[in-house]
Formats: sequence, structure tokens, C-alpha cells
Amino acid sequence: MTPMRSAVLEAVGKIAIVERAVPEPGPAEVLIKVSAVGVCGSDVHYFEHGRIGDHIVEQPLVLGHEASGIVVGFGTGARHHHLGQRVSLEPGVPDLTCPQCRAGRYNLCPDIRFFGTPPINGAFCEYVVLHQEFAHPVPDSLTDEAAALLEPLSVGVWACRKGRVGAGDRVLVNGAGPVGLVTAQTALAFGASEVVITDVNPQRLALAIELGCTHAVDVRGTALRDIGFEPNVLLECSGLPPGDAVRTVARAGRVVLVGMGGDDIPLPLPYLQEHELELTGTFRYANTWPTAIDLAATGRVDLDRLVTGHFALDQVSTALTTGRHDPGSIKPIVLPNT
Ligand SMILES: [Zn+2]
Repeated sequence: MTPMRSAVLEAVGKIAIVERAVPEPGPAEVLIKVSAVGVCGSDVHYFEHGRIGDHIVEQPLVLGHEASGIVVGFGTGARHHHLGQRVSLEPGVPDLTCPQCRAGRYNLCPDIRFFGTPPINGAFCEYVVLHQEFAHPVPDSLTDEAAALLEPLSVGVWACRKGRVGAGDRVLVNGAGPVGLVTAQTALAFGASEVVITDVNPQRLALAIELGCTHAVDVRGTALRDIGFEPNVLLECSGLPPGDAVRTVARAGRVVLVGMGGDDIPLPLPYLQEHELELTGTFRYANTWPTAIDLAATGRVDLDRLVTGHFALDQVSTALTTGRHDPGSIKPIVLPNT
């Protein structure tokens, strides 16, 4: 076997560097040398709690699902890439045969295999294999970090599609974490005329303004109902109970739930009912990479601006916990091959 290094979650709060075999690409799969991996809140949650809802880490697991890399090998029948092709990894591979997949909603495939979600290993390691159709070629103008962050950008693209954000919309983005910041930028790129963002972190709010948001509200000192903004689309990216934000939405407006919080989150149903609001959840994304690549490559969404630190593979634990100590941290990046 050819050995490689993997950062393996062995117990809650404990990651070890383990030598594992470089994986063999199966039919239609490519072997990818991992360039950059973003740290996601869900990685942090698995690291600190060993589970997210019904997804429980029951055996050693490699985290990491926001990744870019270079194609360095081919399985049988994989012929869509050339050796050395830079790619962004779409980290969920569905079965492509079930009713949800056949209806085009492959994000809802019950058999999807998603990087870094138990029991599927992720990308905090030197090499991974992936179905060729989910290894998206990226232009050389995109950095390795931006190519990795096309994954959270896809969450933003999906949120804006589900909210049917378009020209002239007034959008409220609740939460200025990484997903809120890419979602707000996407709403602007989709033509929203106003994008107001909220948070409790002044550094993130300042960055949101730099990235084009028309107004940033620190909800520690200002009640949403007092700012006089009546959005027709609410993109909830905080995971907190969105009641106050929902109550600002205009009649016949749309509410999209993106952030994940507790198991039971209260919603003002009478308000939704009387104002004929549309409410939808979102689960990851489908068919978003071409749009995400275009938004990043044309500069309409700035992903590099979200990067706040670089870490080697043996520093994954530090990368996962840096957000706890540093309010300026937004998106730590792990570079497994440096
Ligand atoms: Zn399926």
C-alpha cells in the first residue's frame, strides 16, 4: 500500500494523524490530491459532540467536506479530466437512481454518501477519491481556497434559488457567519436591490458591509422591528429562533431556513398564515457548482476574503477550535499536503 496521512477523529475532542492507504479510485472515480479544505461549523460540532442529530460518529472518522484538489489518478472509465486538472469537490454523491434523484432533487437522496458525515470519511487527509461528475474543474483564476469554498457558496446559491431571489428584492440575511456572508453576496449577485444582514459580531458585520451589504444590524443593541426594513425575502442563516426576523417580512414574502439550530425551534405560525408567507427548509444543494464557479470566477462573490487562517494537517484540532477563542475567525483553511 502507498501510505498517506489522515486526520482522524478518534473520540470527542481527539484527532490523531494516522497513516492509511491512499484510496483506489473505483469505476468512474478520480483520485484527488487534496489542496485546501475549509473548516465548517458541522466539523466543529462533530469534533465537540460526536454527533449532529441522528448522525452519530460510531467509528473513527475523517472530517472535512469543503475541499479542492488536483486530479492525479483515474479509475476504470473515468475520462472527464486530464492529469493535473484542478477541481472543486462536490462532497455528496447520491445514488442517482432513487425517486428523489430522478426528480432532480439529488440533495434529498436517502442514500447520498457525504464527505465527513458518518460513516463516510472526509477530506482532512492527503488523497481522496470521488466520482468524476462531482469533481468540478475550476479556472486557474480561482485560488485553492476559493475552489474549496465553492461548497459553502453552493449553500448560498441554493438558499437564493429556494427563495427565488431576483432583481429588486429586499433581502434580510439573519447571521453573518460564513454561510450568511456568502448568501448575502449571492443575493446581491442575483440582483437584490437591498441586502440587510444581522449578527452580534461587529467584525463580521463590518466585513458584510465591505462585501456589499447595504446595511448591517448588530441585534445586541437594535431590535429588528425598529430599523424600518420590510424584506420580502428572509434568508435565515443563524440557526437561532427566527421569530423576530419573520415578523418583519412583507406580506406574501418568502422565508428560507438555512442555518441549523436546536431540535425544536419556535416559529410565529399565525404571522406566517395571516401574511401568506412561504416557508421552506433547505438541505445542502443540487446543481449549484456551475453557478458558484461563475460567481466566484467573475468576482461577483469574494470567497478569499473569508479566509482567516491556514493550518497544516497536524493542526486540524487547532483549526477546529480557533473560532471558539478568536471572534475575528471566519473560515480556517487546512492545507493537507503542505
Ligand atoms: Zn437517490
